Amino acid sequence: MTTIFSARRILTMNPSRSEATHVAVRDGRILGVGPLDELTGWGPHTLDTRFAGKVLMPGLVEGHSHVSEGTFWRYLYLGRFDRMDPDGKVWPGAASVEEVVERLQAGDAKLGSSPESLSGWGLDPIYYGARRVTRQDFDKVSTTRAVGVMHASGHIFNVNSRALELAGLLRPGVNHPGVPLGADGLPTGELKGPDAMTLVGKHIGFDREVLANDEPGLRQFARLCVRQGVTTATDLANLLPDDAVAMMTRVTGEPGFPVRIMPFRRFQGITARQAVEHVLALREKSTAMLRLGQIKLFVDGSIQGFSARLRWPGYYNGAPNGLWYTPPESIRDLYRLALEAGVLVHSHTNGDQATEMALDCLEGALLEKPARDHRFTLQHCQLADAAQFRRMKALGMCVNLFPNHHFYWGDQHYETTVGPERAMRMNACATALSTGVPMAIHSDAPVTPLGPLFTAWCAVNRRTASGRTLGSTECIGVADALRTITLGAAYTLRLDGEIGSVEAGKRADFAVLEDDPLEIGAERLKDVRIWGTVQGGRVFAAGDV
Ligand SMILES: [Zn+2]
Repeated sequence: MTTIFSARRILTMNPSRSEATHVAVRDGRILGVGPLDELTGWGPHTLDTRFAGKVLMPGLVEGHSHVSEGTFWRYLYLGRFDRMDPDGKVWPGAASVEEVVERLQAGDAKLGSSPESLSGWGLDPIYYGARRVTRQDFDKVSTTRAVGVMHASGHIFNVNSRALELAGLLRPGVNHPGVPLGADGLPTGELKGPDAMTLVGKHIGFDREVLANDEPGLRQFARLCVRQGVTTATDLANLLPDDAVAMMTRVTGEPGFPVRIMPFRRFQGITARQAVEHVLALREKSTAMLRLGQIKLFVDGSIQGFSARLRWPGYYNGAPNGLWYTPPESIRDLYRLALEAGVLVHSHTNGDQATEMALDCLEGALLEKPARDHRFTLQHCQLADAAQFRRMKALGMCVNLFPNHHFYWGDQHYETTVGPERAMRMNACATALSTGVPMAIHSDAPVTPLGPLFTAWCAVNRRTASGRTLGSTECIGVADALRTITLGAAYTLRLDGEIGSVEAGKRADFAVLEDDPLEIGAERLKDVRIWGTVQGGRVFAAGDV
């Protein structure tokens, strides 16, 4: 059965036939793209004209997101900026710490006498001046119920005294780099980095094992994907316990499930060998809609949380250097074993010292185990300088940069974290492209909202929330940005032979748009209205899923 869709314009990302008016689909794949009279040569078909007034482009590929964006909407949204939930409802941002506390108090009242913990997400104290949030702030919400809030970065919790008590941390003598102490010798209620966060996570609704297996969260995430034109999305740090894999296989295999999910096994709490063995076993269970077999490694923390590792001269405001999440010996072991086994590894580095460490480790691993086309990718890699991009190129690496930071934290980076000069070359998309490093760009949802066209707008305009342009020489063109959120991301996932462009033989994955991103203008790229998606030939309207 062949369906031919007509469209106002189809942007293909295939230079040999860059645009067209019709695309023929059979068995979930693209039979051909071109004028109608060419496509009718494939034989009997149905002509579907519902997109005749719309623009199609390849289904958008989110190369760095987390399915937990779907889960977190069950918790209180406490971010600084307005944000749309999976139903399309927009939640207002919180303007101050006091407002955050008020919202938590309202949440506490709703829970009544139930002993349940109270969870929130999206907090970022950097917007509220120099003061840190402490357990005393959240003790105003409750002293009997555990209260815990994840920072927007995902790298820090703030909790109340009760949560510390349940985790056994409300005592003097705690000695851990991720658990800062107050003048009274007790933890302040801030928990930084995976070790410290794991200690308290299960008491405040953020247990990684439990969250990995959240079926309603996965469904909500998929609804957000359709709203944003996304047909393939990563879940970039999942522990992937067996029950979660079984759930994800079942749900993604349903005829009405609209997104291909590519989870990466988080490298934490196991040896490099165990991690590689785990994902090799998982790879056998891969399906067309659930792609298993990759590893995610964390080298450092976040810049706006001051837990990223920076080279000299360090943080602009004099904050001490950040945290190492994984020791170099483990990184090098993991790289070597993964290269041997042909396993794809994506590594989180935010600070340039972390990037340098990853480059050194991969260089060492490649000397021991030379490999071609490994596509190891640096994720975020926000502070990389030109020399580091040249090393990436020499080592055969890809990069997935994080332009959404320009809008959400650009002013803070300029004024507080790294200062003007480095802020103006953060997420150096133009340098990556001119150096020839294969590049994707991402949202890291739930860190910032899922939405590749918004991310593309950020890369094109480099505009901060206050309207500052952060380094115009690193702006890229609209056409390059669109390629980056389709084929570019697909390449870093080793899926570019299958998705990322509209051409014969590839999966019939399209973003269906009301406006033409090439015509609307660079300034308004983020305002392109999205009708929905076609995924594997199946049509999904935003809001109907
Ligand atoms: Zn992430």
